[in-house]
Amino acid sequence: MLEVHRTHQAKILNHRQVEEMLDRHGWSASKLWNVANYHSRQVWDETSEIPDHGDLKDELKTHPIYKGLHSQSSQRVLEELAEAFNSWYGKKQSDNRANPPGYRKKNYYDTQGRRVHEEHPRSTVTWKRNGIKHDSKNNRVRLSKGANHKEHPKAWEYILVEYETRPGVVVENLQQVRAVYDKAKGRWELHLVCKDEIGTPDAPGTESAGVDLGICNFAAVAYSTEDADLYPGNRLKQDGYYFPKEIAKCDDSSGDRATRLHNKWSERRTHFFHSLAKHIVQRCVEKDVGRINVGDLEGVREDGNGESKNWGTHSNLDLHGWAFDRFTNILEYKAKVEGIDVVDVSERDTSKTCCVCGKEDENQRVERGLYVCETCDAAFNADVNGAENIRLDINESNSESSTSLDEDRSTGWLAQPGVYLYDLSSGFQPQVQVVDCKP
Ligand SMILES: [Zn+2]
Repeated sequence: MLEVHRTHQAKILNHRQVEEMLDRHGWSASKLWNVANYHSRQVWDETSEIPDHGDLKDELKTHPIYKGLHSQSSQRVLEELAEAFNSWYGKKQSDNRANPPGYRKKNYYDTQGRRVHEEHPRSTVTWKRNGIKHDSKNNRVRLSKGANHKEHPKAWEYILVEYETRPGVVVENLQQVRAVYDKAKGRWELHLVCKDEIGTPDAPGTESAGVDLGICNFAAVAYSTEDADLYPGNRLKQDGYYFPKEIAKCDDSSGDRATRLHNKWSERRTHFFHSLAKHIVQRCVEKDVGRINVGDLEGVREDGNGESKNWGTHSNLDLHGWAFDRFTNILEYKAKVEGIDVVDVSERDTSKTCCVCGKEDENQRVERGLYVCETCDAAFNADVNGAENIRLDINESNSESSTSLDEDRSTGWLAQPGVYLYDLSSGFQPQVQVVDCKP
């Protein structure tokens, strides 16, 4: 079973009755944000560290402003602020002009510059499980008030909101309610976050794919539908040159700047892995794939067949085994959501066997990324050859069943895979070009 969250927008039917109370809670959220923001900036100035939401809660839970909202709602404001500070911190690394999270307040001054009036915007207020009572039959939610807004601080008081969703929407397993103010309409609306458990979906089809991870091309994918994709991993390589150089310039290799560069590098790598896994899974869905074979690198490392991967000989491009493992985990998760199995298969001999005729040749030539088979006189992309052998799982299938032997297959696609280059703004884009591998 997979757990997913869905958010439904809902119109508030008894807006006139609840408007004022929602306003007061929205203003309370802004005030808490400001107090916590002020505190965070102070801590930052004194220690150069950003307090996380746990620190903020310890500091502020006894502050009167914390009681402007239900405790879980106040907590959420602190979480949001901590997230905003972290994202500012991340941005600051590349852009010194990035501003820290601002205050949610507008001041009005008279002609002498004296503040005569201040206004708080209506912040989004989030209620979590303990602050919600849901009456699904009558489309109503009761949202707990902050103690400051109750007639009696200890009384159990709530805002009773009647809502209406789009037709056909079923609101079940309500986990979170967000009250969001729509400035243009001058109205509050609700976002209802529901938990849904879905069975693992059926696989898109019964086709298969093979993935070969490597240095020259980060990934090569061969499909049983007779086509192949290459992912040169240009971004990873550029970063692999840039960051070590920058880190080497730092006076102190464990100092602030070096640490930040390391974090940034790792963040970008993670982002690349997620985008790549997403793209491959999308392609697999398009091609009715039900099973993805991934070459198990452990086997390659163990049998000492180093030549196929050139481990460690190019220090700048040295993506360690853990990076492949991490990528494989991400791929596995994203594939599972689509009902596609990911299977580790042995990578032994996959680079020195011809995927067309099955001939294994110790001395086969790999030149400029081309695999040249003496037996069938074919030349094709070396990484696609590896991926295709992984797809065929040549170490498991016996020769009778191996499709590589008995079919008169076309081979054009093995020589001309689609190539996807990665671009920060547009993601993976197909490129019309020959990839020349000069590691
Ligand atoms: Zn051959």
